[in-house]
Amino acid sequence: MLKPRASIQTLAPHHSPILSRDGLCLDLNENAAGCSPNVLARLRALTAQEVSRYGRREDGEQLIAKHLRIPPEQILLTNGIDDALALFFFAYLAPGDELLFADPTFVMYPMLGQACGAKVVRLRSGEDLAVDEFLRHLSRQTRVIAIANPNNPTGLVARRLDLLRIVDSAPDAAVLIDEAYAEFCDQTLIRDLPNYTNLFIARTFSKVYGLAGLRLGVLTGPADQIALLRRFCPPFNVNAAALACLEAALADQAFVDDYIAQMKRSCRQIESLCAELGLRFWPSSANFVLIRIGSQVAAFVEAMHRRGIIVRNTSSNPGCEGCVRITAATEEQMPRVLAAIRESIKEI
Ligand SMILES: *Cc1c(COP(=O)(O)O)cnc(C)c1O
Repeated sequence: MLKPRASIQTLAPHHSPILSRDGLCLDLNENAAGCSPNVLARLRALTAQEVSRYGRREDGEQLIAKHLRIPPEQILLTNGIDDALALFFFAYLAPGDELLFADPTFVMYPMLGQACGAKVVRLRSGEDLAVDEFLRHLSRQTRVIAIANPNNPTGLVARRLDLLRIVDSAPDAAVLIDEAYAEFCDQTLIRDLPNYTNLFIARTFSKVYGLAGLRLGVLTGPADQIALLRRFCPPFNVNAAALACLEAALADQAFVDDYIAQMKRSCRQIESLCAELGLRFWPSSANFVLIRIGSQVAAFVEAMHRRGIIVRNTSSNPGCEGCVRITAATEEQMPRVLAAIRESIKEI
C-alpha cells in the first residue's frame, strides 16, 4: 500500500461535522439570516464568461484593502479561513517544530499542525486566555501560535493587550489571531498590524456576511511574509463566483449590522434561558452559545433533532465534555429554538 508522509498516516479519521442538514441548522455557526439579497442578485447575473474564466484574486484583494484600510500587499484572499490556515501552517511549521494553542479552541489547528508533523502543544484556558501559560511554554521551537478571538467553541473574547503581550513575547513565532467572529465584538488587532513583524490576522465572509458556501477568507500579515506565502499559494484558490460577489457583500453593511444586532439579542435570550434552567453557559461575544448539559448531552442533541433543530455536541473538544454549541438564530426563528431547548431539557 502507498504510504503518505508519516504525519498524515497517523492522523485520526476525519468525521464530517455535518450529520444531517435536515432542519434548522444551528450546528456550524452559519448565518441563519442567509446572505444579502444583493449578493444573490450578483450571483444570478453571472455571465458565461465570468464562470468560464479564472477569477482575478488581485481585484478582490484591492477591495478588501480599502475595506480594512490596510495596503493590498498585506492581504491574501483565500478559499475560506480553512485554506488560509493550511497555507499558514505549511509555511511556518516544519516537522518537529512546535505549534502552541489553548484548548478548547478551533479543531482545525491541531489537525493541520499534526498533518505538518509539528509537535502540538496544548494549553488550557479558562474564562480568561491563559496568557502566562503561553509565555511559560514559549521556546526556541515554538514556530506558530494560533488563537481564535472571539474563541470557538466558547464565544469568549480575549483582551487586546493580552494578545499583544503574546505577540511581543514571541518574535520568532508566527502568531495567528483568527478573527472569524470579530465583527460581533468590536475588537480587532487589524490596527496593530503595522507594529509587528510576526502578527497575522484571519477574517472570513462565512459568518456575518453569510457566504460560507461561497468560501472566501482573508489572511493579513506583514507585507514581506504575505509575499512569501503568495509564492506557493495556488493562483486560483478563490473561485470566480465568490470574487464576483465580494463587492456586493461589502457594500451591504446594513445586512451585516442588522444580523449582528439580531445575534446579540438571540445570544442574550439563550443565555437567560440557560440561567433560568440552571445550565452553565459561556457568555458569548459571537453568534453561538456553548452550554454545559452534562452526561445527557447526546440525548439532548437527539431531542433537539426530533424538534427539527440541529445543534453541535462538542464533547470531543478538550474542555467541552458534555457541552453543546448552539448557533444563534434569527429573531423570527428564536421562539421555536427557545421552546425546543426548554422541552429537550425537560425530556432528558
Ligand atoms: C467558522 C470559523 C472559521 C471560518 O472558516 P471558513 O473556512 O472561512 O469558513 C474560521 N475560524 C474559526 C475559529 C471559525 O469558527
